[in-house]
Amino acid sequence: MDTYRQTQGGIFVQAPPVTFKLELPSGLTAAMRKIKGAELNALAQASDEAANEGGFGAIIGPCWVETLDTGPYTSNIVCLGSDKPNWNRLLKGDLLYAFVHLRRLSMPDGDTYDFDVQCEECKDTYGWTLKLSNLPVQKLSDESKKRMQAQKRFEARLLSDNRRIAFDLQTVAQEEEIAKLMKQQKRERATLIDVLAAQAVEIEGINPDIRARWRFLTDLDMDDLLDLQSKFEEADCGLDTAIKTRCTKTKCRWVQEVNLPLGKRFFSRRRKFSTDEPEKPEEAVDISDSYVRVSAESPASTSGLSAPNSGGINTAGAGTEG
Ligand SMILES: [Zn+2]
Repeated sequence: MDTYRQTQGGIFVQAPPVTFKLELPSGLTAAMRKIKGAELNALAQASDEAANEGGFGAIIGPCWVETLDTGPYTSNIVCLGSDKPNWNRLLKGDLLYAFVHLRRLSMPDGDTYDFDVQCEECKDTYGWTLKLSNLPVQKLSDESKKRMQAQKRFEARLLSDNRRIAFDLQTVAQEEEIAKLMKQQKRERATLIDVLAAQAVEIEGINPDIRARWRFLTDLDMDDLLDLQSKFEEADCGLDTAIKTRCTKTKCRWVQEVNLPLGKRFFSRRRKFSTDEPEKPEEAVDISDSYVRVSAESPASTSGLSAPNSGGINTAGAGTEG
């Protein structure tokens, strides 16, 4: 945590850490410091899977110097001062936002993020560039904040039969039981049903057991599921990480949606792209009007349980604000 600065006499003396104030989508506000070399080393040596398992909390944790405003969280999750929050119980939208912005704070021109995309049409690889600060953010609504402060469950009605469903906003802690069920079923990739089953903690007329909830959702029509997803997302906060990119090969120009890569390379510098044509990063702006909201779901999901990349679930622009 110590940083050093050189005095006029040429002697290095310990200086207080340089911190930045970061307000997360829920209103939770922290003083953060930059990521350090040793932490980057640890990250670089971990496999992507290990980085994901450790979760965003493990990366954000050391850089979280002080909580300045607890936002809508109760004291069993976040306290003012230097105590670290309970990462597993923070909203995933907050975790993802903090993780992405830690890069912006920590690196020279950290707002500019370059990554490779493999074209699904011509199979070539091209580079894509975007400004992380342009990713649409959905802030937590005042109504949702009040509910969280009152420790009340959220409620939605099922489209088809008006059944009452009580749900929680997305956290890592909430995914434990569905992760166990997936293990029993020998499944690795979470589906929309898994994500919804984890969140829908009470379904009217259904046994509260995760297996029963999951089975109930499996039997629902697609429109019911998508409607539920929209209602859950509307109440939540998050960062849109689904991005439309376009192949830079002149003869191809294929447009495809990719999820922002958040693996261990997220904190490394620009690599050489394998394209032989000049990149046109400004095109990222040209077609950015159709972001797909995926909230805090991403390949680097805090627990490894993540919704399918796009899964055909398109609620473009729903409730987001830039
Ligand atoms: Zn292509």
